[in-house]
Amino acid sequence: MTRFVDVRNMVRWVASTGPEPIIAGIMEYLEADFRRWESFDKSPRVASHTPFGVIELMPTSDHETYGFKYVNGHPSNPSRGFQTVTAFGVLADVHNGYPTFLTEMTVLTALRTAATSGMVARKLARPGSSVMAMIGSGSQSEFQALAFRSALGITTLRMWDTDPAAMDKFRRNMAPYGFDITLATSAADAVAGADVITTCTADKANATILTADLIRPGVHVNAIGGDCPGKTELDARILELGEVFVEFPEQTRIEGEIQQMPADFAVTEFWQVLTGRAAGRTSPEQVTIFDSVGFAIEDFSALRYVRDAVAGTDFYEDIDLVANPEDPKDLFGLVGALSPVG
Ligand code: NAD
Repeated sequence: MTRFVDVRNMVRWVASTGPEPIIAGIMEYLEADFRRWESFDKSPRVASHTPFGVIELMPTSDHETYGFKYVNGHPSNPSRGFQTVTAFGVLADVHNGYPTFLTEMTVLTALRTAATSGMVARKLARPGSSVMAMIGSGSQSEFQALAFRSALGITTLRMWDTDPAAMDKFRRNMAPYGFDITLATSAADAVAGADVITTCTADKANATILTADLIRPGVHVNAIGGDCPGKTELDARILELGEVFVEFPEQTRIEGEIQQMPADFAVTEFWQVLTGRAAGRTSPEQVTIFDSVGFAIEDFSALRYVRDAVAGTDFYEDIDLVANPEDPKDLFGLVGALSPVG
């Protein structure tokens, strides 16, 4: 049997536990997996591009457990009544290849992306950071806000989105969480006085959500929206203002903000900062940029976290996903016994 967390159970579990403690919990699993980065199989995700968007498979393995996520990215989806990003994911036992855990990952991707942003910012943002500008108030935004409160204690948010309804939604959803929220009038207005800037917009274009003149010394930029070839958010000159930190360079050079830069543009792999092999922030004035695209190991960590957290609860069910004949060589016997002959 395979354990299965459907959307109803994921939502019940997140609502009963609270999204912020879950994000904090995923952060710990992420850190543990980033610290053993070298022991994982790693490859850029397999992407199928169309004019509408992209559908991707994101596999990895630590040689005990295999995991993958199916995820799409369709920026024009909301205008057609669909979400930009949806996903599901699987863990499997490497010893026999059987899937052991299957879960919805649309909600979980938002939690894991937020947890990854928080984990990185905890290491790179200036100590004492208290104000975050957020550009883009779509599906990922509330999760990002909660991650930065959990990671850095940020409670003051300056929000900008070109869609006023999305900003209203963000303020409404965040009202119970006690943030001090200002709805800005432009990206420039939002970033004024911010210690951290999160960009989480969706547009299948080389957009310029932020220009270099808006970046103050010491700021940490958490750029999560540019995650596909031809889909970036930052003015390329921003990438030369400070140090750029990435997940897996082979994937980020294809999909991230640095796709705008020469192939040998210098970046730092975040796992090396975590393990002390590379420097993180080196001065209060330094600009740090997390060029996030989302990597398979992050999904693996999130899948492990949910699997462990729901064990022994009623937030999952066992499903009959793998045909399991009594004689492992007699698969036909399963259907043969039920088929009319001739
Ligand atoms: P969404 O469509 O729900 O929200 C995007 C928001 O950006 C919308 O509210 C839109 O109005 C706003 N926007 C678009 N252009 C803008 C602009 N120029 N200025 C201000 N606001 C603008 O999308 P989402 O699910 O929140 O995802 C946001 C982005 O993050 C997507 O591009 C997605 O692919 C990416 N993403 C990255 C990761 C990662 O790991 N790095 C994970 C999940 C999603």
